[in-house]
Parts: sequence; C-alpha cells; structure tokens
Amino acid sequence: METAPPSRALVRRFIAGDTADDALATTRRLGQDGLAVTLDHLGEDTTTAPQAEATRDEYVRLLDALHAAELTPAAEVSLKLSALGQAFDEKLAYEHAHAICAKATEAGTTVTLDAEDHTTTDSTLEVLARLRADFPTTGAVVQSYLRRTEADCRELAAAGSRVRLCKGAYKEPESVAYQTRLEVDKSYVRCLNILMSGGGYPMIATHDPRLVAIGEDRAKWFDRTSDEFEFQMLYGTRPQEQRRLVGLGYTVRVYLPYGVQWYPYMMRRLAERPANLGFLARAVRSKG
Ligand SMILES: Cc1cc2nc3c(=O)[nH]c(=O)nc-3n(C[C@H](O)[C@H](O)[C@H](O)COP(=O)(O)OP(=O)(O)OC[C@H]3O[C@@H](n4cnc5c(N)ncnc54)[C@H](O)[C@@H]3O)c2cc1C
Repeated sequence: METAPPSRALVRRFIAGDTADDALATTRRLGQDGLAVTLDHLGEDTTTAPQAEATRDEYVRLLDALHAAELTPAAEVSLKLSALGQAFDEKLAYEHAHAICAKATEAGTTVTLDAEDHTTTDSTLEVLARLRADFPTTGAVVQSYLRRTEADCRELAAAGSRVRLCKGAYKEPESVAYQTRLEVDKSYVRCLNILMSGGGYPMIATHDPRLVAIGEDRAKWFDRTSDEFEFQMLYGTRPQEQRRLVGLGYTVRVYLPYGVQWYPYMMRRLAERPANLGFLARAVRSKG
C-alpha cells in the first residue's frame, strides 16, 4: 500500500509528500490562500528509543526550516507523543517533546499535542501540564466522543490555554466513549460551549457543516473576535470550505501531514469517510 502507485495518488490528496521540503512548499502555497497550518510528521506507536530520537530530530529540523523560510508563526507543529516513545518510556517522550517545544519557541511558534487512543489520555494530559509550565502556549487536543471530555474541557478552558476540539478518530469501547453520531455531536456542542465561554483559545477542528455553523454562532454570542479562536480542518478535506471561512475573516488552520508512514493516518480517514474509498477506486481504475 505504501509504495503502490494507485494508493499514492489517493495519498497525495491528503498528505503533502514524503519530505520536509514537500511540507514547506505546501505550507507556503496554503499561506498564499490565507490559511494557517499545523504540520504533522507522520509516524506513531514508536517502539524503540532511536526511533523516538529520530522523530524529535525531524521536528527540530522542520522547525528550523520553517523559521528560516519565515513561515512561522503562521505554521506550527502537531505532535503525537506515541511517536516520541510514550508507550515504553513516558519520561523520554516528555523530554523529546520539551526539546521540540523549546525549538518551537525559538522559531517563534507553537506545538499542539495530538490526542490518540483513550489509554493514552491521562498520560498525554499530564505531559501537557508539565510542558505548559515552561511553554504555556502548548496546545491540548480533546475528543468529544470520550465521556470524560466535558470535564477535561472545564479544566483546560483557562486563560492562555489553546485547546483543539475534535470528535475523535479511534475505535473506542462503549465504557469510555459515546457510540452514536448524535451523542458525539451533542457532546461536541457541550464542549464547544465550555471552551468558547472560557478564557482560553478554542480551536474548532471539524468538517461538519452543522458544527462549523454552531462555532460561528458561539463566536458571536461570546463576542470572540477572529483572533480569539480558530477553525481547523485536515489538508485535502473540504478545501473550498476552508477558503470560504478565510473569506469571512476567520482564522483557519490546516492540519498538514507529511512523511512516508502514512498508512495508519490514511486508514483513519477512510474509516471516517468511506466516500474517500471512491478516490482510491478511481485511482486504481485509471492505472488500468
Ligand atoms: C485539524 C484536525 C485535527 C485533528 N486532530 C485529531 C487528534 O489529535 N486526535 C483525534 O483522535 N482526531 C483528530 N482529528 C480527527 C477528528 O477527530 C475526526 O475523526 C475527523 O475530523 C472527522 O470528524 P468531523 O468532525 O470532521 O466530522 P464527521 O463526523 O466525519 O462528518 C460530519 C459531516 O461533515 C461533512 N463532511 C465530513 N467530511 C467531508 C468531506 N470530505 N466533504 C464534504 N463533507 C464532509 C459531512 O456532512 C458529514 O456528514 C482531527 C481533525 C481535524 C480537522
């Protein structure tokens, strides 16, 4: 899958390319359309210390390159602690994340810690709290499908805190997560209300037209100007909507993955929107 030409055609729609240079070129192009970016170096579930170190080094190089290209602060980075060794050594993951946050500060930008499956939530929020002691702008991510998330939002909705609200992309058990779309969406709105009425900086990550409209409504209701919250969408998903929102004066940030380890990321995208399989089928057909 990772090397076959048809799947690569699909991947190109959602991923900037294999290298940091590809990511920089796409960041620049998106910037010309008024879009901010958060860059994700693909990779997760790292199992060895050298892999974790290589991930840290890649982010450090990326941040240097973004700074040198004057793409910061409009471009920031998103980070998965699992790529930094969280599963086998939380302290190591924290130290690597700390080094990346220090480099981001030097480069004049920020880091957001992605949310992964629910077994990592406590650990990720603990690491986040420690990082925030030194780098207060480090962003959190919360997932509305988790039953705990409303309470997490109350904790996180404090002044200076950046919080991305998404629905959640992993297969989670009923014991910890809402299972129906309606329940997940209602939870999203409750969490949005908490974040938008709080003192932090909400990052509304969804492609769902109803939730985007509710986000716009809450911004008006809570008197938030366009620099007091933002919308976020994935690269390749609803690109016209991203530009429409920019046209209305909103800050819109595109989550832009790059790198060769795209398989798990793409599988999550296919699972949440089977229509994307159509792109794959067309790509396969066009290759005969
Ligand atoms: C910026 C960003 C960062 C994220 N970070 C994380 C993270 O750290 N951890 C995590 O678990 N998940 C993350 N996610 C993924 C997220 O949790 C969801 O899995 C994903 O966004 C799909 O949910 P949705 O809110 O877009 O709406 P969905 O429930 O997928 O879709 C709702 C409706 O939106 C519309 N829609 C959706 N996609 C399209 C499309 N391609 N074209 C047209 N209409 C469409 C349709 O009307 C659809 O019915 C992130 C998502 C974004 C946007």
